[in-house]
Amino acid sequence: MTGSAHENPIRTRCCIVGAGPAGMMLGYLLGRAGVDTIVLEKHADFFRDFRGDTVHPSTLQVMDELGLIDDFLKLKHDRIQKLDGCFGQQRLRIADISKTRAKYPFIAFMPQWDFLNFLRDKGQRYPHLTLMMKTEAKDLVWSGQRVVGVRASTEQGPIDIRADLVVACDGRHSIVRPAGKLEIEDIAAPMDVLWFRVAKGAETDRIFARLEPGRMMVTIDRGDYWQCAYVIAKSGYEKIKARGLDAFRADVARLAPVLRAHIDDVTSWDDVKLLTVAINRLKRWHVPGLLCIGDAAHAMSPVGGVGVNIAVQDAVAAANLLAAKLQKGPVTEDDLDAVRQRREFPMRMTQALQVMMQNNIISRALASGDRPLKPPLFMRIINALPPLQGMAARLLAIGVRPEHVQSPEA
Ligand SMILES: Cc1cc2nc3c(=O)[nH]c(=O)nc-3n(C[C@H](O)[C@H](O)[C@H](O)COP(=O)(O)OP(=O)(O)OC[C@H]3O[C@@H](n4cnc5c(N)ncnc54)[C@H](O)[C@@H]3O)c2cc1C
Repeated sequence: MTGSAHENPIRTRCCIVGAGPAGMMLGYLLGRAGVDTIVLEKHADFFRDFRGDTVHPSTLQVMDELGLIDDFLKLKHDRIQKLDGCFGQQRLRIADISKTRAKYPFIAFMPQWDFLNFLRDKGQRYPHLTLMMKTEAKDLVWSGQRVVGVRASTEQGPIDIRADLVVACDGRHSIVRPAGKLEIEDIAAPMDVLWFRVAKGAETDRIFARLEPGRMMVTIDRGDYWQCAYVIAKSGYEKIKARGLDAFRADVARLAPVLRAHIDDVTSWDDVKLLTVAINRLKRWHVPGLLCIGDAAHAMSPVGGVGVNIAVQDAVAAANLLAAKLQKGPVTEDDLDAVRQRREFPMRMTQALQVMMQNNIISRALASGDRPLKPPLFMRIINALPPLQGMAARLLAIGVRPEHVQSPEA
């Protein structure tokens, strides 16, 4: 750290670390409320493909409340209302979002970089909001027991940013939460994901999830290619690699025949990224001067594709509770705890549902060897009773205790 960075820190009211869904939405809302806010993002852009692509009705509702929905829905996206899964040979309807009373009753599939670029572009109209790309938070700055800023590195050298509030939105591998001495409670996630893409052929289908004995895969339609998420048992990648690329490609094509025409696009293991799945949560979300939200406070599993939307909901709640106070000055720990109190129950409920799905469906499928796979009873009941498909969809699409924008616009 050079003397000049310490001596000439940048000053702001709120410094947000991480420009994912949580950080970008909170930055947008605070900038909109006239709170001086700096968002730090370590990457140069948002073009990383291992990010959730699902924009749920709860997030669409937030975009509506912000007056952004018309422009947002002009971005290229695919809409899904009915979620079907294949259990062996049996096709089941898991959820039907058209049966919810959501104002936007569909999931918009959109590359997450488009969503984040959109928020960045719309946020440019707020002079109180600054986004600093290629700026990586390295540590927190303390004054006694209080966090008073962030130490970061840029291409030009190290900088200090002094802020009344630091918000960690730096995701599941957060460096801010250990720096804030916040303790994590780990909840088992029995799987990891192999992430790769395959070009689309003439054939297409609308099956989202496929399960067979010993394997599971989700295919996301990204226009001219399929984004594939092949679910494997935790730490099982080496075993899959040992069987060879041909065996892997054959497994994938057998599971999802729609990929057969172009599965040779996967030419080496370099085309296959291993994404580790975690479910965890902080025991405390804050210390004086520091709050964690999004995956930094509670890493979400990909099950249900809800993590992005929960992160957005956290941001809306944080802005609702803190924006007006931050306009006037620093916030207290009680103010920060109000955010945790508001969001902890929905987060715990969602994680509990993810764990239930993991244990009853995914683990069973992965461990079932060659035994025929039978969908669990609750899924068969949902499939048989359409009103239940609406209830399942509501939990998935709108979630528990949805947030509405109440933070002011300056
Ligand atoms: C395999 C997989 C698939 C998933 N699929 C979906 C899905 O389809 N739909 C869905 O809703 N959810 C999905 N999720 C969950 C979802 O990705 C997360 O819950 C969500 O992205 C959390 O948002 P966030 O803003 O809290 O964190 P992140 O999205 O992780 O964003 C954190 C940001 O902080 C930046 N950052 C990190 N460290 C620093 C630092 N030191 N300084 C500056 N910047 C930093 C990162 O570059 C990143 O931009 C998936 C998760 C996994 C593992």
